[in-house]
Amino acid sequence: MDLDEIQITRAIVDSYTQKFKESLDIDVAIAGAGPAGMTAAYYLAKDGHRVSIFEKKLSPGGGMWGGGMLFNQIVVQEEGKEVLDEFGITYSQYSPGYYVADSVEAASTICSKAIKAGAKIFNSVAVEDVIFKENRVSGLVINWTPVEMAGLHVDPLTIRCSYLIEATGHPLEILSVLEKKTGTKLYTETGSIMGERSMDATQGEQDCVEFTREVAPHVFVAGMAANAAFGRPRMGPIFGGMLLSGRRVASLISERLRGK
Ligand SMILES: Cc1cc2nc3c(=O)[nH]c(=O)nc-3n(C[C@H](O)[C@H](O)[C@H](O)COP(=O)(O)OP(=O)(O)OC[C@H]3O[C@@H](n4cnc5c(N)ncnc54)[C@H](O)[C@@H]3O)c2cc1C
Repeated sequence: MDLDEIQITRAIVDSYTQKFKESLDIDVAIAGAGPAGMTAAYYLAKDGHRVSIFEKKLSPGGGMWGGGMLFNQIVVQEEGKEVLDEFGITYSQYSPGYYVADSVEAASTICSKAIKAGAKIFNSVAVEDVIFKENRVSGLVINWTPVEMAGLHVDPLTIRCSYLIEATGHPLEILSVLEKKTGTKLYTETGSIMGERSMDATQGEQDCVEFTREVAPHVFVAGMAANAAFGRPRMGPIFGGMLLSGRRVASLISERLRGK
């Protein structure tokens, strides 16, 4: 068969445009495709909600690919094992309560399962601001990462959403903008971003799930972003908390969407 270059181009432009148009007005927008954001997207999509993730980097997966210090294995504790089972990720028991998995299999499988469940992922798209009306976030302001990197003067586009999940990990990029530009008082002890604390794997993992919650009207934090927002410890390359946090935020938002 003779291949037509223009038909290839048309196929890409038309199908991308369709996917993007379907994401302009959605139930849940997620900033950041790390393990927490992708797990949240999977469960929300599985529950029938319209959900899209906007990821600044070319490859979704966040900090998961590199395991610990580029040793590309991850550890998951007992509590997180059932999420590995849900995704069908291969793992083995290293010692009682410590399970190991290949970080590349884990990141790629969660990504694939989220998309197959119906979530959309837009990579190389950075969230740079929020739409803020009537004292709450009602959408995202996005632009191509290369535009941001090159410092080009190009206006962004926007996404409307009922709920936003801030899952950008350590830097808390979206919450920082929200705090700075809108003066929103967050639902933290101080009313502001508290910043992550030094490493404590036990506490950090528990807190990552416990502090997965609404942090401002219609804005939820998940994964490392929850610890960073609420001043809780980091935990290093153990990932059960990230997976459980993603599942929890999906369940909290699903309840709200069902009751809306
Ligand atoms: C580069 C890097 C280094 C890390 N180093 C450590 C470490 O030394 N110790 C430790 O305990 N944990 C570290 N982590 C985090 C660790 O991997 C976490 O335990 C886990 O990956 C956190 O998962 P998460 O889903 O919360 O966020 P992450 O895995 O961090 O994923 C967040 C995602 O959000 C994306 N993002 C950020 N800003 C935006 C934006 N404005 N718009 C769209 N997308 C955005 C990022 O590109 C990333 O893919 C690191 C993470 C990263 C990405």
